[in-house]
Amino acid sequence: MNLVLFGPPGAGKGTQARVLVETRGLPQLSTGDMLRAAVKAGTALGNKVDALLTKGELVPDDIVIDIIAERYDQPDCAKGAVFDGFPRTIPQAEALDSMLSVRSKKIDVVLELKVNDKVLLDRVEQRIKEGGILRSDDTPETLQHRLGVYYKNTAPLLAYYGKQGKVVTIDGMAPIADVTQQIAAALDKKG
Ligand code: ADP
Repeated sequence: MNLVLFGPPGAGKGTQARVLVETRGLPQLSTGDMLRAAVKAGTALGNKVDALLTKGELVPDDIVIDIIAERYDQPDCAKGAVFDGFPRTIPQAEALDSMLSVRSKKIDVVLELKVNDKVLLDRVEQRIKEGGILRSDDTPETLQHRLGVYYKNTAPLLAYYGKQGKVVTIDGMAPIADVTQQIAAALDKKG
């Protein structure tokens, strides 16, 4: 099964992706994690994207499309994957559809984690209070910017996948265990 975890920054996609790794045995393909790893390792790619990540701007489509295609061809993705933070633009979604279709695969479901802006901002403030700033883009100011990018570039994907009949909406403001439960129920229904 190939599934997309969809939602605004800080909605809890990473948290739920990690649960799905455990419960469904599918690998988590997080473009954000891969890009941060490249920055940390100081690779050419990392140096190229560092400033974009810190500002909360999107990395160019061709870069993330390439890293996803390379990752998806690893043997652990043979039974599918959990796409987390990808796709984030219509061209990325189109590239993902064609990448899967040439491999006789498809996206089975898009799980939309719905969380309102106020709750997202509260969560960042809480994280900073508890642990300080652990990620260069995890500040209230940058979150505002990332939300703007999300509504402009990423939210239109809901209509794209809606037309394909693939979107299941999950209440992302419920406690973590409830969100996990809602997702499990949605996936079990899909078979
Ligand atoms: P969050 O889920 O908290 O928004 P991510 O870890 O998914 O954060 O992404 C962090 C940053 O990495 C983004 O703000 C962007 O700069 C870059 N990035 C991640 N995925 C993509 C993508 N699919 N397309 C373009 N940029 C991306």
